[in-house]
Amino acid sequence: MPALLDRGDFNLTATHLRSTRGFLVGAAVVALCASGAPVAQTGDIQFLGKTKYLNNARAVVVHSIDDSTKLVVNIADAMDKYDIKGTFFISTEQDPPPEERFFNQLQVWLLWPRMQKAVENGHEIGAHAVTHPCSRPQSDTTSPNYEAFCQTAYTDAELKGSRDMILKRTTQPYVWTWAYPCGHCASFGFIQKRIADAGYIAARNYPGEAQGLHVRPDLQTWAANPYDAPYTQVVQKAGGRRGATAPPIDVPDLDAKFDEVYNKGGIYHFMSHPQSLDFGPDGFYEKHLAHISRHPDVWYVPMGPVYAFHTIVERTDIKPLSKGGAKARFAVSNTLDPKIYNGSLTLEFTAPASVSVLSNGKKLAERTKAVTDRWNEEYVRREGDKLYVTVLSNTTLEFR
Ligand SMILES: [Zn+2]
Repeated sequence: MPALLDRGDFNLTATHLRSTRGFLVGAAVVALCASGAPVAQTGDIQFLGKTKYLNNARAVVVHSIDDSTKLVVNIADAMDKYDIKGTFFISTEQDPPPEERFFNQLQVWLLWPRMQKAVENGHEIGAHAVTHPCSRPQSDTTSPNYEAFCQTAYTDAELKGSRDMILKRTTQPYVWTWAYPCGHCASFGFIQKRIADAGYIAARNYPGEAQGLHVRPDLQTWAANPYDAPYTQVVQKAGGRRGATAPPIDVPDLDAKFDEVYNKGGIYHFMSHPQSLDFGPDGFYEKHLAHISRHPDVWYVPMGPVYAFHTIVERTDIKPLSKGGAKARFAVSNTLDPKIYNGSLTLEFTAPASVSVLSNGKKLAERTKAVTDRWNEEYVRREGDKLYVTVLSNTTLEFR
């Protein structure tokens, strides 16, 4: 029997998911030397736990971008310039009738080639409905017709039509996320159920725009309810487009919020409308991107994959298959749908420097890239006496 070292709960505040489960593999890990003091045996492999973030990153950066304006191309180019990954929430209506045109929806047909390139480059396309239903004032939370508006606006055509168009126009294998147009209807359980029934695993809100509350919801980890999920802060001119309640934008203030989340080991999720930005290296947007980009201990990832990752970590079991010797083996398994939960997770081990790791018979390469900016790769990385093994689930690991 492997020794069960200890157990712990999934802890959002700890840097790592240490001690989720610790198994010793091998003969006893410590033996008594001649003097009676314990010494570590060489050749032993010890599983320490699943890491909180991929590749044992200290913190996470997520960016989400709303609406189908032609400026989405500018924002995608700026993000690639600084290696920031994000989720583009696109409204998919190809050709709205003139009387129903909302300027956000006019250019979607121009965007698809750029969105396909974004998918290939590690970004995500999320759904922002087909027609972007946001008919004020009846869509405002204070309206007596608010619930009726939500009831009518959240149709299968909006929820599934946008999803299916993204699948048709890009090679993205799944549409994980939804963003509520104008932030409306996010708080209703019956709406959240419709979102979940359409297959989304998370939905981003935009709370209290009229009151300026949308500027800094200050979420620094996964949302307790993923179907009413806020973010950390808005990065836009004057904070927001509607009303004058938001303070003017201040780059040091934006940067300080990132620093706070980074120092706490949290998830920094910032959102923007491209039509509310300035572009170019002297504008506040690129200045902020430069501040937050290319940290070797940050995981840059879109919203859907980071929510999927949370579930993968919670639901994956690691079981030792052997009692050690030269070939310690572990089964990494879960019963999740691999189409939705197609990402990897990271396992922390102590292992001798000479050891190689095979995943389903294939030797894992040592990671040399400095920045963690994908969610579905497999590799190993050494850090001091620790070995971080990043693998897809439902595999057998073998140490040689
Ligand atoms: Zn919108």
